Amino acid sequence: MDWNNIIYPALSIGGLGIIFALGLGIAAKKFAVDVDPRIPQVRDILPGANCGGCGYAGCDAFAKAVVEGEALPSGCPVGGSSCAENIAALLGIESSGEGKQIAYVKCQGTCDKAREKYAYDGVMDCKNANFLQGHGSKACEYGCLGLGSCVRACMFDAIHIVDGIAVVDEEKCTSCGMCIGACPKSLIELVPYDSKVRVECHSTNKGKEVKLSCDVGCIGCRLCTKVCEFDAIHVDNNLATIDYEKCTACMKCVEKCPTNAITVKEKE
Ligand code: SF4
Ligand code: SF4
Repeated sequence: MDWNNIIYPALSIGGLGIIFALGLGIAAKKFAVDVDPRIPQVRDILPGANCGGCGYAGCDAFAKAVVEGEALPSGCPVGGSSCAENIAALLGIESSGEGKQIAYVKCQGTCDKAREKYAYDGVMDCKNANFLQGHGSKACEYGCLGLGSCVRACMFDAIHIVDGIAVVDEEKCTSCGMCIGACPKSLIELVPYDSKVRVECHSTNKGKEVKLSCDVGCIGCRLCTKVCEFDAIHVDNNLATIDYEKCTACMKCVEKCPTNAITVKEKE
């Protein structure tokens, strides 16, 4: 056996290996990106749901944004206030826990209050039903279809179909917004957690039409706007909306609304 046939190739492969290793080592040093050690620490505090409710691509992106000062520690809807406080303590900044929001469904057309055009017997999916003629079986084309697409989108068991419409469990809702994208009627909106007064209707139909389809719809009569002393409720396109920056929850609009389209949410 000629040992040269083994030794020379082994030496040349070994030499090449050493040259490549040195090259990689130098490149790693030269092109190394410094990662702020606080980013993985913030990431460890986050719940890891990767739901995107913070507005970033996931928990890693949110952790980076908080450390770099682009997002507030309170921006994670799943982690809540304790998570915000822990991140703030780690970074030595204010948690600014204000601004917690909650999802609410702008419809209270339950089975006894909202009329149906026909009996729906199709796939239990709101987007499918909304494609049908008349945009679903409800006489009000703006109303909740009650087929639960939002329920299936919610990772937190925070929204359920009750008496034919979607209802949010405010204690479980993390304001991640997944239900908002799932609703083909654009019925779900985020409002301040502490807000008490809600217009639970999304119809921009004229009053007469609203009355024909539902007992509790906004008819755009403007009685609420006239009684509000704080300029906190306005009617645009036949529909009342509340300005939560101005609303003092005095309840005058709630009392005045002839169709009970404005409701009060008392926290338990
Ligand atoms: S109800 Fe909607 S916003 Fe609230 S946790 Fe469920 S999907 Fe998220
Ligand atoms: S709120 Fe929207 S998604 Fe949820 S059941 Fe009603 S129509 Fe369907």
